Amino acid sequence: MAALGPSPWPPLLIPAPTVPLLLLLLLLLASAHPQGLSGMPGEPSLGESSSGEDVLGVEDLPSQEDAPGEADPPGGEDPPGGNSEAQKEDSLKLEDLPTVEPPEDSQGPHEDGKGGGHSLWSYRGTLLWPQVSPACAGRFQSPVDIRLELTSFCRALQPLELLGYELQSLPELSLFNNGHTVQLTLPPGLKMALGPGQEYRALQLHLHWGTSDRPGSEHTVNGHRFPAEIHVVHLSTAFSEFHEALGRPGGLAVLAAFLQESPEENSAYEQLLSHLEEISEEGAKIEIPGLDVSALLPSDLSRYYRYEGSLTTPPCSQGVIWTVFNQTVKLSAKQLHTLFVSLWGPHDSRLQLNFRAAQPLNGRVIEASFPAAGVDSSPEPVPMNSCLAAGDILALVFGILFAATCVALLIQLWRQHRYRSETKDGASYSPAEMTETGA
Ligand SMILES: [Zn+2]
Repeated sequence: MAALGPSPWPPLLIPAPTVPLLLLLLLLLASAHPQGLSGMPGEPSLGESSSGEDVLGVEDLPSQEDAPGEADPPGGEDPPGGNSEAQKEDSLKLEDLPTVEPPEDSQGPHEDGKGGGHSLWSYRGTLLWPQVSPACAGRFQSPVDIRLELTSFCRALQPLELLGYELQSLPELSLFNNGHTVQLTLPPGLKMALGPGQEYRALQLHLHWGTSDRPGSEHTVNGHRFPAEIHVVHLSTAFSEFHEALGRPGGLAVLAAFLQESPEENSAYEQLLSHLEEISEEGAKIEIPGLDVSALLPSDLSRYYRYEGSLTTPPCSQGVIWTVFNQTVKLSAKQLHTLFVSLWGPHDSRLQLNFRAAQPLNGRVIEASFPAAGVDSSPEPVPMNSCLAAGDILALVFGILFAATCVALLIQLWRQHRYRSETKDGASYSPAEMTETGA
């Protein structure tokens, strides 16, 4: 009678000690991913480039007068959105939001290039943008302050390629003072891809600027604001109309570059700036010869920052893919001055300081297309540079564990089933087997 049958429960395929081991592995993997990559020892540097020129230099980075939130427009009113302290908050404060003015004109938001539907808003006024478009109070808005030490190198971000941007002088292009910016409408045929299957066509370009005394870029770098910024607005080829893409992830993409002062005149920009006097009045529009649009952007299209944000004016629609180039574009002091003083906006006010304050990242990580530059040469271990967010890693780990558990469960069920069918038919066990099993 010493012989015992098989245990009523087949043994677990995963030995008991393995379970805590798996849990330990899970914890280790979760902690191995640096949250927000804040531990990156080196910063992707705006001062580094192979050419060593035309790139944002260290001297361009934060100065006292350029501290976030300092850019109050003339007249003592708050700048668009108040101050950049909003970056430190988890949610927008009302006083940080841009304002709108009573209904007056009838042009579309300057990003849309269509001219319709407009424009209850202004950069300085008494009403808040969310009252015009609730999306302006969204959590993933633009522009943002690019904190270099918090960017994450992403190897998958390849150099951008622009096709068809070198326009001939004919056909002519429409240059428009819409009261918020100067906008150049682009013809069909300017194509750009952010990656495989992510194709876009350019719709329009426009600028944001300050004054001779105050910088006016929309994005900032470590709190530093640049004199001006160009935006080239693109529509995904998945959509035929601008409005269809509003608020859709990746429906719109903007290429952005900072404009900086240099001793030399920029001949490409001169083709725009030389016409500003002709459209000084709000609503004025002229036709100008076509030009090389790619020459308005930096020559280095391989080093940039990438994040998902919004239009920077109402309707502030989210899902916009932003590419902010590391290399700046250089204009002469005279050219920048022309940009600062040539145009007029609503109510006979100068069109200046047409930028929105930096918006909170709210957990977004800004990716960089290039690795941490040699600012910090200390022999720190290379951090885990990855496009994957911590959530992706955890999802992967949990997925693997779930799959393993399912397989183990299925095998266990199968073994139980087999055991039951075998015990139902006792003859299938020979005495020898039973003895052997119980030995
Ligand atoms: Zn813009």
